[in-house]
Amino acid sequence: AAAVQVATRAMGFDVDRFEEEVNEGLLCAICHDVLEDAVQAPCEHAFCSACIQAWLLEDNSCPVDRQILLASELRQLHRYMRNDLNNLQIRCQYWQHGCREKVPLETLHQHESACPSEPMRCPACRADTSRGEMARHLQICTLRTSAVVPAADVARLLEDMRSELEAARQDFMTKLAEQKLEMDLRLDAQRRHLVQREHCLQEQLEEMRRLYARLSEDIKKLIQQEKTSRTELQRMAQEKAELLQLLHQASGSQAVQKLPEKVTDL
Ligand SMILES: [Zn+2]
Ligand SMILES: [Zn+2]
Ligand SMILES: [Zn+2]
Ligand SMILES: [Zn+2]
Repeated sequence: AAAVQVATRAMGFDVDRFEEEVNEGLLCAICHDVLEDAVQAPCEHAFCSACIQAWLLEDNSCPVDRQILLASELRQLHRYMRNDLNNLQIRCQYWQHGCREKVPLETLHQHESACPSEPMRCPACRADTSRGEMARHLQICTLRTSAVVPAADVARLLEDMRSELEAARQDFMTKLAEQKLEMDLRLDAQRRHLVQREHCLQEQLEEMRRLYARLSEDIKKLIQQEKTSRTELQRMAQEKAELLQLLHQASGSQAVQKLPEKVTDL
């Protein structure tokens, strides 16, 4: 029964919305409104689809004559009844909002889904308006936002902007700190690199100094050796000269005459 209660609120068209008297055969046996999305039982009783589906959740018989009824037995309305139903003139559901349209039930959905009187809310300022007025409202709304936006919304917008700004500021500070850290690290690395290079250069310099010292030592030794050998040569030349002189002075014996050849070989 609870399910039926729920369905009666949602389904069926209120008879007050029709100008002419509606044939009783076109009324739902459950909600007593004009059939919406109509179906028919084998016993010929007609219901709104939602009304009878809800009823059959708790019962398995026709609510009018109690004949056994299963959901699978429900059929479309007879064609002549369907035509009568479709041709009923019904008032638009936005009558209270100013729509004066009366349309065949068949085209009701088509009209209502585009009805200019349908209440709508401005997505920008939340002001109540209608489908037909929306375009004009949006012009005013975007041209004079401050005049249209309620004070509470302005406060909320400001609050949002403030927190966005604060978030952006914090984000900026974080990024700045990160960049500074990265820069410090890079500088540190460069400093370390430079120190290392300097150290390396000093080592090379030291190495060259040692090499130079060794070379000059060698050169000194060579010069010394050269000097020594020159002195030696001079000394030997001296000795040779003296020997030759001695030979000239000496008498010409065989053994002595052969001596100069040996000496010049030096
Ligand atoms: Zn109904
Ligand atoms: Zn029945
Ligand atoms: Zn309408
Ligand atoms: Zn607006």
